[in-house]
Amino acid sequence: MNIILIGPPGAGKGTQAKRMIDRLGVPQISTGDMFRAAVKECTAMGLKAKECMDKGALVPDSVVCGMVDERFQKPDCVKGFILDGFPRTLEQAKSLDEILTKMGTKLDHVVVIDVPDDFLVERLTGRRTCKGCNYMHHIKFDPPKKDGVCDKCGAELYQRDDDQEATIRQRLKTYHDQTSPLIEYYGKANIVRMIDGTKSMEDVQADIKKAIGA
Ligand code: AMP
Repeated sequence: MNIILIGPPGAGKGTQAKRMIDRLGVPQISTGDMFRAAVKECTAMGLKAKECMDKGALVPDSVVCGMVDERFQKPDCVKGFILDGFPRTLEQAKSLDEILTKMGTKLDHVVVIDVPDDFLVERLTGRRTCKGCNYMHHIKFDPPKKDGVCDKCGAELYQRDDDQEATIRQRLKTYHDQTSPLIEYYGKANIVRMIDGTKSMEDVQADIKKAIGA
């Protein structure tokens, strides 16, 4: 099954994707995670991506599309994928169409996790990401048992540079300007499933399960 998750930063795309991978037997492909890994490894692409990420801007389409195309070649994608954070522009959506046509496959569902901006600022400024397993705690909604330490793997928690308030406001603007037009783009193919992302993690997951029938 081929799924795209669309939603503003902090809508819970990553969290929901992680809850779906085992059930569906497909990998989560998070372009944000891939860029963060490249930044950590100080690769040339990582350095370029970091400049954009710190400003709340998008990494150039050509860089992202090449990276995703390469990722699809890995054997774990044979049964499909959950794309988390890609595509984010119309150019990327068109490029994805071409890649999928080349692979002889197509999208099954575009799941849109809808959350108003006001909710998101509180959610994102409180997020603490694990350096080890990328699990995300929240200082108010999902606090770790021990301050600064991940409950899942015991590694150190940190606040992502792009989870600072000024950057979040810019990321939301970027989402409204560049990514939300994709909802109309995919609307034509009748594959958009709108989900209320203000509900609890469990309820959002249950709504997604119902919407995609799996
Ligand atoms: P995320 O973790 O998905 O919120 O992504 C964090 C940052 O990585 C974004 O704010 C962008 O700077 C960059 N990024 C991730 N995915 C993309 C994409 N599909 N296109 C352009 N930039 C991206």
